[in-house]
Amino acid sequence: MATWVPGMEGDVGASAYTPLVMPEARQSEIPSPLGMTCEGFVRAASELVVQKKIGAETFYKECFRSGRTEVGLRAGGVWRLDVAPIGRVEEDESPEGVVRKFTLRVPGPTGGSLGADARASTVETESVLIPMIGRKGERTYTLCVSSQIGCAMGCGFCETAQMGLVRSLTAAEITAQWWTATHVLKQTVSNVVFMGMGEPMDNLDNVLDAIAAMTDHCGGAMAMSKITISTVGRVDGIRRLSERVREPGWRRLGLALSLNAPNDRVRSELMPVNRKWNLDELRDALIAFPAHGGTKLCVEYVLIPGVNDRREHATEVAAFCGPIDGAYKAERGGGSPRVLLNLIPYNPRRNSPWPAPEEPAVDAFLGWLGEEGVYAKRRRTKGRKMMGACGQLGSEAIRGRRMVELGVRP
Ligand code: SF4
Repeated sequence: MATWVPGMEGDVGASAYTPLVMPEARQSEIPSPLGMTCEGFVRAASELVVQKKIGAETFYKECFRSGRTEVGLRAGGVWRLDVAPIGRVEEDESPEGVVRKFTLRVPGPTGGSLGADARASTVETESVLIPMIGRKGERTYTLCVSSQIGCAMGCGFCETAQMGLVRSLTAAEITAQWWTATHVLKQTVSNVVFMGMGEPMDNLDNVLDAIAAMTDHCGGAMAMSKITISTVGRVDGIRRLSERVREPGWRRLGLALSLNAPNDRVRSELMPVNRKWNLDELRDALIAFPAHGGTKLCVEYVLIPGVNDRREHATEVAAFCGPIDGAYKAERGGGSPRVLLNLIPYNPRRNSPWPAPEEPAVDAFLGWLGEEGVYAKRRRTKGRKMMGACGQLGSEAIRGRRMVELGVRP
């Protein structure tokens, strides 16, 4: 939320003798600049505050660029930004630097406040800053953000699934994770991936609004190609996103699929979403997803011992990826494959029935994928110790699950 406190001497464009008065009740109607584009915020401020811009654009830019939460105007009046406070910061060493997991305290599902009894009325987002050393030796960070508190999708290997869905995050709460990483933790965020808590397609409207703010040139100014949405395979969401990436400015948005299984039988056991949309439907939706500018389609495969790590499974994975590559090459008359498969050694969740895979098993599976013609890389696991690795975000304390409609705002 944002607040506008008017100055008694009036403001830009108003008569010097006309105080700008805004009833307190209406102040809560001013949306947070973190949840929208600059244009949208200026419009909302104009409608809600005093039918004038009164520094709304300056305020928006200052929030994003310098991280200021209070902007006073020369002509009088003050804009204030409310951002969810940090709950916890945990650190873990990795070969490329310190992995940082942090939480933000946000109102609970019944709309609690961040006031005196914050403990009872708040829940926490979870985000992870993952360091990477670039070719020239510079260190940048990929920020893994949450789109929901908990998740309704119930994937068997996932820590977050144990929580069930608590609630979806607003667009401003999603962008607040970027804002905190950049302006409070002072890290250079070069990439944002929606791979934290939640299924982004379950909260697509808010995810898209947050991306619009993070890429707005007056806002986060990130390149669209540096942002990736990862889905468990909600085919209806992939189709909706296909429409969005046809629009100017959205064409380079990245898409990742959490595959994790070689066939429908294993996938339906591991990931309930597969009972609604099977692998054939999923592959068709991915083939139809526009590949502007040669953007890769990342396919994530969590390798779980005894579940999806056999030789014949590599053949089945190739049978899933092959037609996606084939359609892409046919359209362009050849070239490199479209699918990049990320092989992720399983990080055992709490009370996991499966162990982590042995190193030779990971190497062997990677080799089999190569033999089958799949362009695959191994993703190094960072942050395992503090449960900040893939599929491990989530609080033990919260239970209960319910399904949500696609893209419905909280
Ligand atoms: S893997 Fe992703 S979609 Fe599946 S339960 Fe975990 S957070 Fe949800």
